[in-house]
Amino acid sequence: LLAGAATLAAGALVLTGCSGSGGGESGGDGGLVGVAMPTKSSERWIQDGDAVKAQLEEQGFTVDLQYAEDDIPTQVSQIENMITKGAEALIIASIDGTTLTSVLQEAADAGIPVIAYDRLIRDTENVDYYASFDNYQVGVQQATSILNGLGLTELDGTPIEGAPEGPFNIELFAGSPDDNNATFFWNGAIDTLQSYFDEGTLVVKSGQTDFQQAATLRWDGETAQSRMEDILVSTYSDGSKVNAVLSPYDGISRGIISALTDAGYTVGDEWPIISGQDAELDSVKAINRGEQYSTIFKDTRLLAQVAVDMAVALLNGEEPDVNNTTDYDNGVKVVPSYLLESAIVVKDNITEVLVDSGYWTEAEISG
Ligand code: BGC
Repeated sequence: LLAGAATLAAGALVLTGCSGSGGGESGGDGGLVGVAMPTKSSERWIQDGDAVKAQLEEQGFTVDLQYAEDDIPTQVSQIENMITKGAEALIIASIDGTTLTSVLQEAADAGIPVIAYDRLIRDTENVDYYASFDNYQVGVQQATSILNGLGLTELDGTPIEGAPEGPFNIELFAGSPDDNNATFFWNGAIDTLQSYFDEGTLVVKSGQTDFQQAATLRWDGETAQSRMEDILVSTYSDGSKVNAVLSPYDGISRGIISALTDAGYTVGDEWPIISGQDAELDSVKAINRGEQYSTIFKDTRLLAQVAVDMAVALLNGEEPDVNNTTDYDNGVKVVPSYLLESAIVVKDNITEVLVDSGYWTEAEISG
């Protein structure tokens, strides 16, 4: 599995040795590592948790893996427990990036290194490293896939000669405002769409163009569904159609799709172009059915590998590999980061991107 994952990364990631380096303390002699994940309600975090746990165990660590069902106090007490149990390192995907300041002070007082997993932990100096994807670029890819679906650009963003002039009606959704990533996705997407707004090719007919208006607390699909229902009633009751919806996450896309279906939209007949993120199985199937146009694939196996490598390096007294030391200011300091690349998935490249990489099997996708 890991060898395959490394090949897929095409050199984006250097795998470190599995047995600790230099014959020193590998830290893998059964020592405990705490892994805090936000929720099991989204498939991607299950994939992440499983991959981090398996990779740590392969290196001889004991793992305390916890999910907090998107409840902030639960996550805080899970991390407190890990500290009490004597965790040697913590790998944390936060629910709200700003709520861990005091528990991470306890970790620092106990000398425990902390790695922020996928989501930046904010407002504390007690986060040592950050493992994630290039989140601005994810937003660029989401917007680019929308432009591609509307026939305006190629999948790599190259404008298409003689493309339709529109105007196309688009509605905008953003992620959870307490998740640092949500702003990065939004900025990448809006920067990519801006010239199309300026020239009138794209129109946000509802007028809801601010991040705060578009944000979806906890990335909740039902919240997105009701907002989409409200927009369809308030803005499209005059018989006009929404042609595209920028969605930052597959679960939000599924809510949007339900709202559209309930309002009488049918696939194949003026059905809008809808983006997503995470290549969740249900959404890959929705892409196959033509309900969702695209998703963004972020290989959780590679992210797990980066985070595990960081933890092992720190426990060995070495400096983890980073490739970004400028972009992720958490309000107190710039957290040294390793950012992986993501890929746009549309119907045509599902097999190439998701099956050939071993992320999903053909059977899972068609089942
Ligand atoms: C992650 C996304 C995910 C979202 C909702 C973000 O922090 O980067 O991959 O779609 O959370 O779980």
